[in-house]
Amino acid sequence: MDYTQIRMWARRESGKTKIETMNNIQFQIAEFVSQREWQKFHTIKNLCMAISVEAGELMEIVEWRSDEELKAPLPAKLASIRDEIADIMICCLSLCNVTGIDPDEAMKDKLQKDELKYPAEVYRGRPPRL
Ligand SMILES: [Mg+2]
Repeated sequence: MDYTQIRMWARRESGKTKIETMNNIQFQIAEFVSQREWQKFHTIKNLCMAISVEAGELMEIVEWRSDEELKAPLPAKLASIRDEIADIMICCLSLCNVTGIDPDEAMKDKLQKDELKYPAEVYRGRPPRL
């Protein structure tokens, strides 16, 4: 999906129930954890580590592959990437559940900070610098 498609999708989806969907998924994750009595394992430290582990699994999929190879990943590779993205997001939302952080608000706030840090008129076509 290119950026034009993403913008069209976002426009189509805006005003729908994105926040409700996020909340629903967060609730499903909490239910999943609760049904297995995993709350005792879902500490802030463990979830932070799990996010890193899952990010490592995502990196493992692309490790040693050329940019050319990854421009159009094979369906099986794309499915693996999809799974790892889901794992990362599930861990992030679990961390939000444990900390009480609203992920929607957190992302909106961070995007606002990044808008100020990386103004488009300065950074258009340039990579962000640390
Ligand atoms: Mg994984």
